[in-house]
Amino acid sequence: MKKDNIKSLVTQMCKELLENIELQDKANKNVVIDYLQNAIMTIQKIDDSKIDSIEHAKLAFTNAYKEIAKKSILSYKKTNGKFEELSKLQQETFNEFKPHIIDIPAITTKFDEIQSHMTQEIQKANEIIHMLSTQVKDLEEDSNLDALTKVFNRRALNKYLENITKKGSLKHELHLLILDIDDFKQINDTYGHIAGDKILIFLANLLRKTLRDGDKVFRYGGEEFIIILNRISTHKCVEIAKRILYNISSNTLLYKGDSVKITVSIGATKYIDGDTPNSLIDRADKALYRSKSKGKNQLNREEADGN
Ligand code: GH3
Ligand code: MG
Ligand code: MG
Repeated sequence: MKKDNIKSLVTQMCKELLENIELQDKANKNVVIDYLQNAIMTIQKIDDSKIDSIEHAKLAFTNAYKEIAKKSILSYKKTNGKFEELSKLQQETFNEFKPHIIDIPAITTKFDEIQSHMTQEIQKANEIIHMLSTQVKDLEEDSNLDALTKVFNRRALNKYLENITKKGSLKHELHLLILDIDDFKQINDTYGHIAGDKILIFLANLLRKTLRDGDKVFRYGGEEFIIILNRISTHKCVEIAKRILYNISSNTLLYKGDSVKITVSIGATKYIDGDTPNSLIDRADKALYRSKSKGKNQLNREEADGN
């Protein structure tokens, strides 16, 4: 009978315990079942003879019960905490382990290999490009062409003049023109050096187009060109030089939305027997000087006899 009382007490306390556990922790059923089994064992251990009233039994049981409940909840908490720890550990392990599953290190190594291979290839390509550009530069220097304007360079002019003057006489008429861009420094200062370079290229192309086969254009210096006109009369030479002056001055160049106009001054002379490259150029230079000092954008001539 007493045990029956205790049993009903246990049922009631179990309910309370359940609520208690539910409130404290989201206890799972297994924890509660464990607890209940422990409770049953405790009840079985209660010595009936020592229980003289329901109140006494209630107290004795409540104490035992509370102890079990405390332990159960504590152990649950511990387990729960452990589980959290474990799941954290597992997550960490998983994270560590994950790369092994999808073999990230192998992929990374492969990727590193590819990258280093690519870097090597790029390095090689750069070396080749550098070598080739050096070779192109050397070739251009060795060649007779001016790198910027692609007309003949000064080296070519020297060779050419050496060749035609070495015999001391020429079977045909030859005129040499020196052409110098007017106020080119100011053009560079106003529009920039790149604009200046483009003007040089434009001018070189215009000269090439204006001249016939057999005539030659050389870049003598920065903004100075030398033109050799072969098998031509003085009259025709003047005509050509004036056409050059006109073609240049009547052209408007567009650079980054700016209209740029240029003019040139020309000095011309005719080859005479016994001329050396220097004497020929010096005469043309004198004529050029006159063109500059007389107002630019014009042609002047200097004859060997001073006419
Ligand atoms: P002038 O009418 O008396 O000839 O005056 P100028 O300004 O043309 O002559 P100056 O000799 O005072 O200046 C020549 C300018 O040409 C200075 C230089 O910066 C420029 N120049 C020379 N070579 C190059 C080149 O390759 N590119 C460019 N952009 N400018 C050049
Ligand atoms: Mg000059
Ligand atoms: Mg000039």
